[in-house]
Amino acid sequence: MSNPYLHTEKQNLHEKVEELIKEQTSNWPLAKRNYSDLKKIESKSFGFQHCQIQVQFNPERIRSSAAKVDAKSISERPCFLCESNRPPEQNYIDLGDKYSIRINPFPIFEKHLTISLNQHVPQEIEPYFVDMLEISQLLPAFTIFYNGPKCGASAPDHFHFQAVGKNQLPVERELKNTTDIDDPTVINKDEITIQYKNSNYLRKVLVYKSSSKEKLKSYFKRTLSILKERDQDGEPMMNVLANFEENEWNLFLFPRDLQRPSQYFEKGEKQLVMSPASVEMGGLVILPREEDFEKITSNDLADIYKQVTINDLDFKKLIEKLKR
Ligand SMILES: [Zn+2]
Repeated sequence: MSNPYLHTEKQNLHEKVEELIKEQTSNWPLAKRNYSDLKKIESKSFGFQHCQIQVQFNPERIRSSAAKVDAKSISERPCFLCESNRPPEQNYIDLGDKYSIRINPFPIFEKHLTISLNQHVPQEIEPYFVDMLEISQLLPAFTIFYNGPKCGASAPDHFHFQAVGKNQLPVERELKNTTDIDDPTVINKDEITIQYKNSNYLRKVLVYKSSSKEKLKSYFKRTLSILKERDQDGEPMMNVLANFEENEWNLFLFPRDLQRPSQYFEKGEKQLVMSPASVEMGGLVILPREEDFEKITSNDLADIYKQVTINDLDFKKLIEKLKR
C-alpha cells in the first residue's frame, strides 16, 4: 500500500524499521548496552479501582526526566535531533523526504523509535497531525506518540514523534472497549466516536475512534481550539497517542494542567524525580532513581496524576463544548 501523503510503501517500511532496530542494537555500542540492559530492568504494578499503573526503574532515562527544557538551556545545547549533531554510529531511514526514523538509544521498550522532522522547527502538533495518523497507518505494529513542548518533550525545539510497540501501554488495553468508558456517546456521528475517561481513571483522557482521517483532523482541531480558550500562551498542554488497528485509528488525547508535579521540586526524602509525558499518561511511570522506585506509593501516583491532568471543571467544559 502506498501512502498518498508521505509517499512511502508500507510493507517496505516495516521491514526497514525491523532491520534498523536489529542493526543498531548489534553495532552501536550505546544502543546495544541500553537495549540489553532493558531486559533486566525492574518494574512493578499498582492496582487502582479502574486502572493499573506500572512503574519502571530506568536509570538511563535521567537525561530525559531531569532534562532542562527552559528556552535558555535549550538554545545553549547542540540539538540532538539535527543531522549535523547525530552520533556517527546512529543510522536512520527516510520516511518520505520529510522525516527520519532512528532508534532511541535510551529506550523504555524493546522497540523504541524517534521520528523527527528533517527541519529544526519547534514542537507543535497541529501542522503535523495528519502525518501522525499516516505514520501510525504505515507502522501498524507501533503506537506513535507526541509530547507537547511543556509536556515531556526533551527536544521542544525540534519537531518529533516517538514510537513504541503497540498495545504495551495500559491505556491502550484498558480503553479498547467502549463499555470501559464513562460516557460512550460523547460524540457518535459523522464516522467518528469520541469518548472520555474522567477522574476515576486518575487522569482524564479523550479517546477518538474513526476510519476517517478528515473527521479525526476536524475534531482534533476543534478540541485544540476549545483548549486554546483557556491556555492561550502557545500550544495547549497535552500528550497524544495514536495507533491504527482493524482499519481505524485510536487516538488518545490527554489535556494537561502542569508540566512537572510539585514532588519533582522537593528536596531530600520528599523528592520524586518524574516528568510525566505520553508514556506516563498512558499508564507507565518511568523513575530514573532507585530510591524513588522503592518509596513511591499509590497515594503519590494518584496525587501526581491529579496535579498534571486537566482540572475537573475545565474538562467538564471541554466535554460540553464538544457535544454541542
Ligand atoms: Zn534540531
